[in-house]
Amino acid sequence: MEYLYGLLFGTEPKQSDADARTALHAKLDALPDDRDAQITLTAAELRILKEATTTTRQKHGGGDELFVRMHSNLTEDLDPSTADAVVDAYGASPLKPNPLAKRRPSPETPQLRKACKNAVADLISERQLASSVPKERRKTLEMALSEVNAWGFDVWSVVDAFQGDTLLASRAIVDAVVFEARGFRAASTSHILRQVVSKMLASYQDVPYHNCLHGADVLQAMHALLNLAPTFDDALDDDVVLVTLLACLSHDVGHPGLTNNFLVETGHELAIRYNDASPLENMHAAVALNLAKPYLRTRPPADQKQNRALWIGLLLATDMKEHSQQIFELERALSKSKERGATYEACTPEHHVPCLKVFIHACDVSNPAKPWAVYRRWTALVMEEFWRQAELERERGLPLTVPARDATDLAQFQKGFIAFIRPLFAAADRIGGVDMSLPLERLDDTARRWQSPRAEAYDDDVRE
Ligand code: AMP
Ligand code: MG
Ligand code: ZN
Repeated sequence: MEYLYGLLFGTEPKQSDADARTALHAKLDALPDDRDAQITLTAAELRILKEATTTTRQKHGGGDELFVRMHSNLTEDLDPSTADAVVDAYGASPLKPNPLAKRRPSPETPQLRKACKNAVADLISERQLASSVPKERRKTLEMALSEVNAWGFDVWSVVDAFQGDTLLASRAIVDAVVFEARGFRAASTSHILRQVVSKMLASYQDVPYHNCLHGADVLQAMHALLNLAPTFDDALDDDVVLVTLLACLSHDVGHPGLTNNFLVETGHELAIRYNDASPLENMHAAVALNLAKPYLRTRPPADQKQNRALWIGLLLATDMKEHSQQIFELERALSKSKERGATYEACTPEHHVPCLKVFIHACDVSNPAKPWAVYRRWTALVMEEFWRQAELERERGLPLTVPARDATDLAQFQKGFIAFIRPLFAAADRIGGVDMSLPLERLDDTARRWQSPRAEAYDDDVRE
């Protein structure tokens, strides 16, 4: 977590840094591709560039030329310590003419410049992330993120620390899981990965429940569930884990806050496009895979095909229409193994994908298996989205397919939903190497609270 904390709580960026970043960006944008082009950087711009490009530079053997060239024409406002740093970092004196400047343009230059700009863009957004958390809330954020490996992780503490900004909260959660806990920061393609993540988050709509926070939440839940199944987690290739996490993040991308039923009944363009067959999930998969292209292209061709197939399979497995069939198939596989006197093991390579499909679906419906206060806030949002759809159904004279605001027995509805999803968790718990006891305990606890006539009184827990 140190890296993230460093970014979040490290040195407060001064105002002049913000100006320097903007100026640096403009200069990089204006930099022509030929080698004779010169760039003049101030000390602050250079420091930011150096910070942003350290990793990029290491990843591009031979790329040092660009950086030498960039620093070959520095102005007098370069303080001596920065000048030394340039010499140390790039092995060139910034004050001497650059001998490389006479050579042909390097074919690598445009590519490197792009990588360099991406690194700067990342740095900017991470700093924005840090500066948008008020000082008094940083401790709360630090504490909330320190639980990111746990099933009981409280997403709402992160949202509260960002004063309700779900996009920033989602980014912080994804960063903490993908780049910190799972260590994908070290991958040579991490700058591409960051861009793909940003695009996925930005492609969620601003609806009450199916917004980017739900994507980030399902990603965190998957990470935590894999932590509860360490032998399975270890048996999975890093590539498979990363694709699975990204599939979770993107599983509801573009969601309009309306159900498949509604889209089909109203002849929505998504229903037309996908012939009434899982229009939402097909759309999520198409949008997600399109956004993922820059990342997938970094993989060898055989992996690209496999990753794409895995991603699509996981997204289609989140269709609630598949829920009962998925449980049925899992139970059948469990029984077959039992008849042979064996256990259906998650670690067996042929079981990896079926188990991940069970996991993503379980994570998608996992809010009642979370601590009560966490669950209740999700439930309020799910209900709000349903209620808005019911209003549209009423307006159009359609039969109601979701609960209406004025006619919801919340306890009854929630007990029904929990009873519906519990068998999935129970069946998954019987898979060898999978431990669903904590989610099951929570699920039962939530159901027990709804049994009480004073269930809503527990909502006192929800208020800060
Ligand atoms: P998805 O639309 O991909 O998120 O699929 C999950 C399904 O579970 C959706 O139909 C949600 O409306 C439903 N769901 C999730 N949490 C709850 C909840 N607390 N109460 C009722 N339905 C829920
Ligand atoms: Mg969905
Ligand atoms: Zn979902």
